Amino acid sequence: MTVSVDPTLASAIRSIPDYPKPGIMFRDITTLLGDARAFRRAVDQLVQPYAGTKVDKVAGIEARGFILGGAVAHQVSAGFVPIRKKGKLPHETVRIAYSLEYGIDEMEMHKDAVGAGEKVLVVDDLIATGGTAEAAIKLLQSIGAEVVAACFIIDLPDLGGAKKIEALGVPVRSLMEFEGD
Ligand code: AMP
Repeated sequence: MTVSVDPTLASAIRSIPDYPKPGIMFRDITTLLGDARAFRRAVDQLVQPYAGTKVDKVAGIEARGFILGGAVAHQVSAGFVPIRKKGKLPHETVRIAYSLEYGIDEMEMHKDAVGAGEKVLVVDDLIATGGTAEAAIKLLQSIGAEVVAACFIIDLPDLGGAKKIEALGVPVRSLMEFEGD
């Protein structure tokens, strides 16, 4: 069940049971991205608290975070920083291992992508356990970034990710919640 405040956005998300493995309810945002009104609305709502705030960079987490993060960066007039799966970035990187709701992986970013003290917004499509966002935040902080917030279209609160990120002192913004995982 969704407890969204914006039913237009919630109904633009497609839910696919047992993907990528049994027991996972995959929340597919490609249907939202393909709907011009819903996509614009989602980006507008994500950036709304940061209007008038200085944001230097938006860091998007591969791959859906790139699509949303690029649009958010444009809207807040910030630069964009990709956080990628290991081995994809050509220059010197910093790397961190993290666990997913369904697996373990490593992520990287360019060492020189963010300057010390720069204000950074982290963007991804969904927060579940918070492992991915936590790793991205730690990576950014390791090179001196000030992470001002982490933004998601969807929060799965039963998995505790948003609480984990808030415990790091980073505010979390999400546009809707779905019960369960
Ligand atoms: P987590 O690290 O557990 O917070 O997982 C978040 C990452 O995994 C995000 O990059 C999501 O895109 C992806 N993800 C995790 N669970 C789901 C789900 N149920 N539906 C869609 N994407 C998911």
